[in-house]
Amino acid sequence: MYKRMDRRSFVSNTVASAAGLLLGSNLVPSIPKGQSEKFSPEKRRMVLMEEVMKYRKIDTHAHVYFSPDSPTIQIDFAERLGIEKLVISRNIEAFSKGTPEEFRRCNDLVIKCMKDHPDRFIGTMVLNPTYTKESLEEIKRCVDAGMVGAGELYNQVKINDPLYYPIIEKFIDLKMIMLMHSAIGKSRVLLNLDEPPNISLPEDFVEIAARYPEAMFQFAHIGGGIDWEYACKALAHSPNIFVDVSGSNNEAGMIDFALKYIGEDRLLFGCDNSFYQGVGHMLSDNLSESQRKKIFFDNYNAILKKSGNNVN
Ligand SMILES: [Zn+2]
Repeated sequence: MYKRMDRRSFVSNTVASAAGLLLGSNLVPSIPKGQSEKFSPEKRRMVLMEEVMKYRKIDTHAHVYFSPDSPTIQIDFAERLGIEKLVISRNIEAFSKGTPEEFRRCNDLVIKCMKDHPDRFIGTMVLNPTYTKESLEEIKRCVDAGMVGAGELYNQVKINDPLYYPIIEKFIDLKMIMLMHSAIGKSRVLLNLDEPPNISLPEDFVEIAARYPEAMFQFAHIGGGIDWEYACKALAHSPNIFVDVSGSNNEAGMIDFALKYIGEDRLLFGCDNSFYQGVGHMLSDNLSESQRKKIFFDNYNAILKKSGNNVN
């Protein structure tokens, strides 16, 4: 997730997006194009929400927090938008050392949320490969607690660093996916100067995915502030990299563009807290019914199926 988003901007972004979402005439599929003025705002809202609730959804990029309003707030959004499952993690802070104490504490929070809300939450774990032994022990502890993958991994170590090799090999054995955070920046050469040195770039994902073709990687949030056109082009020929469309910077046409380069089988729906935007851009871009079904639900469920953790 984008580290500087506070609660106030989260709420105001959400409201702005919801307003925008309601205005798009192509978002009310059962009202013929160009005729939306003939229908009351109330009717348009109802039709839109019917469309929203029609699709089963797995939010493949969700978080829980140590704050008192979490996870109530995440569950509330999911409930209103018909998001059946949230794949949650509590990431290690961006500029933290990421000690074993810290990643265990993050994972403990996720385990607690999974136990409290088993029907809503699917848990994934964080770790820091600098601590190989502790990370491998943590994988076992978290899988035993019911977790189904890694993520959201942060920038303590680049995804293609050899320190990750034993971790990736473990996830290959487990047939589980690894979600790694991606950078914020206008382009590869204009990377945001606030980014830590070990941030993983699209090229790093491409390299490690080629080294381990059996592994499954999830490239985080193309709507998170990266140059998404650049990212999609860079990731186009890596069949074992899945791309989640979450983030708070999603622009019109982003998913259409991603579809062209990544294809309908490797795109994953996600919100990363931008719940209205996350659902809204899935409906406003030019996806077919079957493409929406795949991206909202089926693609990730097929990944979960490999480890026997799929949703029925
Ligand atoms: Zn992130």
